[in-house]
Amino acid sequence: MAGRLQDKVALVTGAGRGIGAAIAWCFAREGAAVVIAEKDPETGAAMAERLQEQGARALFVEMDVTARRDAETAVAQALGAFGRLDTLVNNAGINVFHEPLETSEAEWRRCFAVDLDGVWHMCRAALPGMLEQGSGSIVNIASSHSSTIIPGTFPYPVAKHGLLGLTRSLGIEYAARGVRVNAIAPGYIDTSIARDYWATFPDPAAERARAEALHPPKRIGRPEEVAMTAVFLASDEAPFINAACIAIDGGRSVVYHD
Ligand code: NDP
Repeated sequence: MAGRLQDKVALVTGAGRGIGAAIAWCFAREGAAVVIAEKDPETGAAMAERLQEQGARALFVEMDVTARRDAETAVAQALGAFGRLDTLVNNAGINVFHEPLETSEAEWRRCFAVDLDGVWHMCRAALPGMLEQGSGSIVNIASSHSSTIIPGTFPYPVAKHGLLGLTRSLGIEYAARGVRVNAIAPGYIDTSIARDYWATFPDPAAERARAEALHPPKRIGRPEEVAMTAVFLASDEAPFINAACIAIDGGRSVVYHD
C-alpha cells in the first residue's frame, strides 16, 4: 500500500532532533523524500543517514534559518535533489524567556530572528516554486504560547503569536493558487527544549511533574504526536484545511481556571 505522502517532497527545518526529527521520520515512513534542514551538522547528518538506512530518500542541508541566503540555498538544494517541493515544515525554534523590561535588545532580536524571521525566510524561498506548480502545504510549528501568555516567557509568545498571524496571512493570500498554510500549536512536548527549561528551576523533576499535571491527560506530549498531525496536514487528506491552527495539548488550552 502506498504511503500517505508517497512521492511527495518535504523540507523540515530543525529536523536533527526533537519534534523536527519525529516529523522527518514519520514523513519518510509515509513515503516522502525528506530534506533535513538543520543548523547542527552532527544531528542533521545523522538523521539523514538514519532515514537512508531505512530506504528513504533523504538529504541533509546544513543551514541557519536566520540567514535568508541559507533558506534560499536549502530550498534550491531540495529542488535540485528531488525536483519539487510539496511541503515545508517550519519547525526550528528556540525558547527565549524573560521578564519584559529585563529583555535585552539582543535577546529580543535572537528570538525573532529564529522564531519569526526564520519562518518567513523559508516561506519566501519555498512559495514561488509551490505557486508555480499550483500546489503546496506549509506547516508551521507554533505553540500554546501562540494564543496564551505565561508570565516570564517574554518575548517568545510575541513571536509565536506573530507566527500565527503569518500562517493566516499566507494561507489566505495563496489559497486560490493551491497552497495551504497551517499551524500546529503543541503544549509541552518531551524534547530537550522543554527539559532545558525545567532544568532552570531548583527542582527540575517537580517542574516536569507540574507541567504533566497541567494537561488533562496528566502527561506531556510526545514528538510523534505532533508529527502525526504534520503528516495529516501535509497529505491529501486535508485539502480544505487552510489558515488553521491545530492544538496538540491534551485539551489544556480549553480548561477553565478560576
Ligand atoms: P529542540 O530544541 O529539541 O529542537 C529544535 C531543533 O531546531 C534543533 O535541532 C536545533 O538545532 C534546530 N534549530 C534551532 N535554531 C535553528 C536555526 N536558527 N536554524 C536551523 N535549525 C535550528 O526543540 P523542539 O523539537 O522541542 O521544538 C521544535 C519546535 O516546536 C519549536 O518551534 C518550538 O518552539 C516548538 N514547540 C515546542 C514545544 C515543546 O514543549 N517541546 C512546545 C510548543 C512548541 P541545534 O541542535 O543546533 O540547536
